[in-house]
Amino acid sequence: MKPFAFSRVNDPAQAIKSAAAASTAQQGAEIRFVAGGTALIDLMKLDVEQPHQVIDINHLPLDKVENLSDGGLKIGALVRNSDLAHHSRVERDYAVLSQALLSSASAQLRNMATTSGNLLQRTRCMYFRDTHMPCNKREPGSGCPAINGFNRTLAILGTSEHCIATNPSDMNVALTALEATIVIRGAGGEREVPIGEFFVLPGDTPNRETVMQPGDLITHVTLPPPRAGAHSHYLKLRDRASYEFALASAAVVLGIDSGTIRHARVALGGVGTRPWRSSAAERALEGKSANAATFATAANAALSHAKPQGGNAFKIELAKRCLINALTTTATA
Ligand SMILES: Cc1cc2nc3c(=O)[nH]c(=O)nc-3n(C[C@H](O)[C@H](O)[C@H](O)COP(=O)(O)OP(=O)(O)OC[C@H]3O[C@@H](n4cnc5c(N)ncnc54)[C@H](O)[C@@H]3O)c2cc1C
Ligand code: SF4
Repeated sequence: MKPFAFSRVNDPAQAIKSAAAASTAQQGAEIRFVAGGTALIDLMKLDVEQPHQVIDINHLPLDKVENLSDGGLKIGALVRNSDLAHHSRVERDYAVLSQALLSSASAQLRNMATTSGNLLQRTRCMYFRDTHMPCNKREPGSGCPAINGFNRTLAILGTSEHCIATNPSDMNVALTALEATIVIRGAGGEREVPIGEFFVLPGDTPNRETVMQPGDLITHVTLPPPRAGAHSHYLKLRDRASYEFALASAAVVLGIDSGTIRHARVALGGVGTRPWRSSAAERALEGKSANAATFATAANAALSHAKPQGGNAFKIELAKRCLINALTTTATA
């Protein structure tokens, strides 16, 4: 690990001012916030991230879950994943989020990991984490060995010729199905970014993953009020039952009235370069009967643009079965 300066802040304005001096908020940022540290410190030990300055934000007052007047929920950036998963309103009204969080990592990691840190965790692509290998995301222009190499765990949706890395987070998939909004304070003031616009596709700049700018501090995430009568579910498929990232996952919210699907939100994990909302699947569901044939049509629609590489073609069928299973479970809840 390279030497770095460490400081602690008690005031969001102070944090933003310090980090605004960085040249980027993406890969290679010289100034970094640290929350739980379970992602950043890991990457610093591997020399993948080499910030000159690390700013501890754990003393900022951003660790509350609060009800909003419209019936929605405000989740502070520093709320720990375990606290969020077991929060009574999350368990009751946003079950898909609780389930996604509890399927992540391990109990110890969830006790440290925060909402904002989870949102911004980096890919687990093995070439990205090995500084002896080229990687366009870590070192723009150096190449992508994963495309013709070991890509079993990598993406089949939203890829480019420069990068096929998956977004590894489970929480992000649930937040996408719940249509969360990310609230950011930066040098220019506060802004609200719908989660569908927060993560960017790799295109020819895979080093750029989000719309974050230097100095930007995520302060909280908001969820809209739950749909009356809707049910939700998260299903994660992986190589072992715990402590493992998704090969494919599905977050589903369904509102069904007299057997007809009135409201559908669908997001996939483990298969996309960003948490993958599928409008095509939602269109195939809404207004249709909640039955096996409808679910199969939706799954085919969700994966119709999949572009597999040699080692990850199996994910197409896996993701379809995952989605069908999640829809079936939700519809019978
Ligand atoms: C062994 C292992 C297994 C795991 N398995 C899973 C899994 O199955 N599923 C899963 O989803 N995740 C998994 N994870 C990842 C884990 O969820 C993340 O490490 C964790 O959520 C990161 O949160 P943190 O608070 O520790 O982030 P940190 O390491 O503190 O920060 C991560 C990034 O976010 C930035 N950041 C943090 N807070 C803010 C803020 N408020 N504003 C702006 N920038 C901010 C930091 O600068 C840094 O770049 C695993 C991790 C490990 C080590
Ligand atoms: S898939 Fe992306 S992260 Fe992995 S080696 Fe290629 S460029 Fe790097």
